[in-house]
Amino acid sequence: MNRESSLDRIRSAGEPFDVLIVGGGATGLGSAVDAAARGHKVCLVEQHDFAKGTSSRSTKLVHGGVRYLRQGNISLVLEALRERGRLAQNASHLVRELAFVIPSYKWWEGPFYGVGLKVYDHLAGKLGLEPSRMLSREETLRLLANVEPKNLTGGVIYHDGQFDDARLAINLAQTASDLGAAVVNYCRCVGLVKEAGLVAGILARDAETGEELTIRARSVINATGVFVDELRRLDDRRSQHLVAASQGIHIVLPREFLPGETALMVPKTADGRVLFAVPWHDRVVVGTTDTPVSEPSLEPRALGEERDFVMSHARRFLVKGPSDGDVLSVFAGLRPLVRAGGAASTAALSRDHTILVAPSGLITITGGKWTTYRKMAEDVVDQAETVAGLDATRCRTEDMRVHGWTRDRIPEANLRPYGSDAAAVAGLMGSSPSLAPKLHAALPYQRGEVVWHVRHEMARSVEDVLSRRTRALVLDARASIETAPLVAGLMAAELGRTKEWEAGQVAQYTALARRYVFTDPASRETHAMAKEGRKPRRTR
Ligand SMILES: Cc1cc2nc3c(=O)[nH]c(=O)nc-3n(C[C@H](O)[C@H](O)[C@H](O)COP(=O)(O)OP(=O)(O)OC[C@H]3O[C@@H](n4cnc5c(N)ncnc54)[C@H](O)[C@@H]3O)c2cc1C
Repeated sequence: MNRESSLDRIRSAGEPFDVLIVGGGATGLGSAVDAAARGHKVCLVEQHDFAKGTSSRSTKLVHGGVRYLRQGNISLVLEALRERGRLAQNASHLVRELAFVIPSYKWWEGPFYGVGLKVYDHLAGKLGLEPSRMLSREETLRLLANVEPKNLTGGVIYHDGQFDDARLAINLAQTASDLGAAVVNYCRCVGLVKEAGLVAGILARDAETGEELTIRARSVINATGVFVDELRRLDDRRSQHLVAASQGIHIVLPREFLPGETALMVPKTADGRVLFAVPWHDRVVVGTTDTPVSEPSLEPRALGEERDFVMSHARRFLVKGPSDGDVLSVFAGLRPLVRAGGAASTAALSRDHTILVAPSGLITITGGKWTTYRKMAEDVVDQAETVAGLDATRCRTEDMRVHGWTRDRIPEANLRPYGSDAAAVAGLMGSSPSLAPKLHAALPYQRGEVVWHVRHEMARSVEDVLSRRTRALVLDARASIETAPLVAGLMAAELGRTKEWEAGQVAQYTALARRYVFTDPASRETHAMAKEGRKPRRTR
């Protein structure tokens, strides 16, 4: 995957692209893979880095959504469970099965959740994981060594999937590129090209050089997540809001707060929310919240009430509770939720995601979740073929392996996310002794990985490496700040950049990463939502 060669292909494209996608999150990247796999000529532009938006800020679960069962939304759960199974098969290097325990503190909770989870097992059918079962108090305490024992009566264990969200996004960009798509990060769509009132392409700006590009296409897919309304308004100034953004935050703790290999799930906190504490990359991710947001931003920050909610519940369910100083990172993400009523005028292909085709032909897709990205892509590319006047073709991604797929067990933990590329990454590091040392004592990464990210994964900035190629920013925000100068130096050598570039990168990264340091005032949301006095709402 190479940025310059993708740009060259865009500049020299004589014919319009068949499918042009705006937005490089799960939805857009999945669509690029789907369309390219069908043999279409595909281009994707992302204004920042791949997965900079919501797609790197999830709870990292590949799940059917146990809580949708409570709402009786069986078709949604069925679809997600099917996709869970497919993703586990097609990206086995990034997805793993994980056991979740729901601790019970009231006599009826065990049987109540136990029955629901049997339905969940049954719906998964042949793509099911290990079946759920009830646990005694002793078994629960053995699996969740740090859970609050007072009044604990037992628990229920069930299985779901877990993954690395940003790494999957990078692998999807590589898959699309392997299939011939032109994919470019740091290239923003700033306008639409129209002919006789119909969308015929986009105007894009390369954020690195300022170059303006006119990219012509037979169909344009708006996959910009919580920003879909911006593009819809470029198309038609009178268009109504389709998306309401909802913020969710997570804190990241050292592993000692949840030792063992089992996640903790609280289906209903006292104020009606779902809470997860999940082991991930030798840390524990705890969240989340559900707070309405009026102005979406690429770098949302946690509200005071959200921080209090997550911390107080972590302290309530864990005997050894975390103090503020224990938090390694705090991050926030925005869910693109389709507004009630908005779907009335849409061709809703599933209850979870929404596809809307404007009179101009602009196709917007939003909603859904990471787990169902492949099905969303299938549905929207079907629409794109119609809009573009292409012959309808069959989706090919159900059994298609994602870049990096392997079943081999990779011994080095830090190289596992590279899957089938791990040997080449190791080979690169073996080629020079200067590339083998770790980036930082508190982080699992090695210097040579940075070189790999620049050469093969389109990393352009220190943030790309520390936030989405590695996950240093969420594993330990302070350590990631300390290693930023080293990363900037390695990248500058690869990209042929100056000392000024290095200094600028370190300053930019430090300012950004301070927002993830829980005890730093920069990590708190102080305007927008807070000023409006908005409160986190109950989870749907
Ligand atoms: C707190 C939280 C927890 C979640 N947990 C889970 C989970 O555990 N499992 C699960 O399955 N799902 C989960 N989800 C849902 C999942 O993360 C989202 O559904 C998914 O990431 C949305 O992807 P997207 O591509 O639609 O949006 P995004 O990832 O936001 O991508 C949109 C992209 O468009 C780009 N863009 C915007 N405007 C332009 C422009 N003009 N030009 C070019 N590019 C542009 C943005 O920069 C962005 O990168 C969670 C969501 C949240 C918020």
